[in-house]
Parts: sequence; structure tokens; C-alpha cells
Amino acid sequence: MERQQIFELYEWDPGICFRHPDRGVVDTTVVQTLRPRLGPAEEVRACRQCVVAMEAERRARAEELGVQYEPGHAGNGLDHR
Ligand SMILES: [Zn+2]
Repeated sequence: MERQQIFELYEWDPGICFRHPDRGVVDTTVVQTLRPRLGPAEEVRACRQCVVAMEAERRARAEELGVQYEPGHAGNGLDHR
């Protein structure tokens, strides 16, 4: 899958990447929403570079498990690390 096709699956807004906070505000998309028991929900955002990396990991894992890879859900699986 081409990067551009992956990018089109997400909505991009300025934000802070959870893996690259020191880069400041970049183009990001929400990959996960944390819902703490106390306090408001918190969005986890990732930059384009991280989303491409996360999609590549998900595809590799899907192939390993013999399940179908569905792009567009980069945040799925973050809980299980
Ligand atoms: Zn990043």
C-alpha cells in the first residue's frame, strides 16, 4: 500500500505526535482515545511517519497470524504491547 493511500484513510489535523513530542505541532491523526476512569477522554495522536510505520507493523502481524490486513486502524493493537 502506498503512503498516499494510507494517508487518505485518516483525517489530519495539527497536533503532537505521541512518539515524537519534541517535534512540536505536526500533521497528526487520532490513533486512539484513552478513557481514564477519572477525567476527560484523551486523544493519542500520531504523525504521518508513525502511522505509516504502524500500518506496516499491523500488516506484518496480520500476515504472521494469517488474518486479513485492513488498513485505516493504526491504533488497533496499541493496547497489547
Ligand atoms: Zn511520529
